[in-house]
Amino acid sequence: MSSIKERLQSLRSDIIEACLAAGRDPADVHLLAVSKTKPAGDVMQAWHAGQRDFGENQMQEAISKVNALPDAEWHFVGAIQSNKTRDIATRFNWVHSVASAKVARRLSEQRPEGMAPLKTLIQVNISGEASKSGVSPEAAQLLAADMAGLPGLTLEGLMAIPAATDDEQAQRAPFRELRELKENIEDSLGINMPHLSMGMTGDFTAAILEGSTWIRIGTAIFGSRTR
Ligand SMILES: *Cc1c(COP(=O)(O)O)cnc(C)c1O
Repeated sequence: MSSIKERLQSLRSDIIEACLAAGRDPADVHLLAVSKTKPAGDVMQAWHAGQRDFGENQMQEAISKVNALPDAEWHFVGAIQSNKTRDIATRFNWVHSVASAKVARRLSEQRPEGMAPLKTLIQVNISGEASKSGVSPEAAQLLAADMAGLPGLTLEGLMAIPAATDDEQAQRAPFRELRELKENIEDSLGINMPHLSMGMTGDFTAAILEGSTWIRIGTAIFGSRTR
């Protein structure tokens, strides 16, 4: 079995290959290592192999890992209950899964004064979405307008988790839709959102071909999970 370090190395070369195929600069595609369900020791191994950004989807599980590695960049990628916004606002650098104006307002209000604004993305339920989380494309536009005025956060872009499929053309369609939605929102609100968070272990090549700037990878780095 290969180590986390070896899997990261091989993933990095796959990412570069996908960028070459897409005619994109590899510096524009960031790797988020999704460490949910995995122990802090695995996160440390990835850290020592040069990985700096880590994603978690449950606050209770995340806290010990965030405390063990406070110098990493921590990204929250899970569903957000209102009573968890303070923990997120005080402990995380990024949130990929904002899906309501109420949560956005709370994150902004609860972001501590001395910290840089929280970097946020709106999770969109794009066609063929596997889960029910995320806002509709129409609601994303309204939510973006709301969030653009909040002082405690910056609106960095959009995120989606399309249903899994093995067919690359079928994988690309929802990613393309998310990119077009981002461009439409930027045009109509006159704002710039630099990021598209899309692509996981099974479909990151397709996501890179459609313009992803954050791929969120768990299995290919840390091995399979039971949940
Ligand atoms: C678990 C998870 C991932 C990583 O999925 P893999 O298929 O293991 O790469 C990415 N994004 C989110 C939001 C997740 O919850």
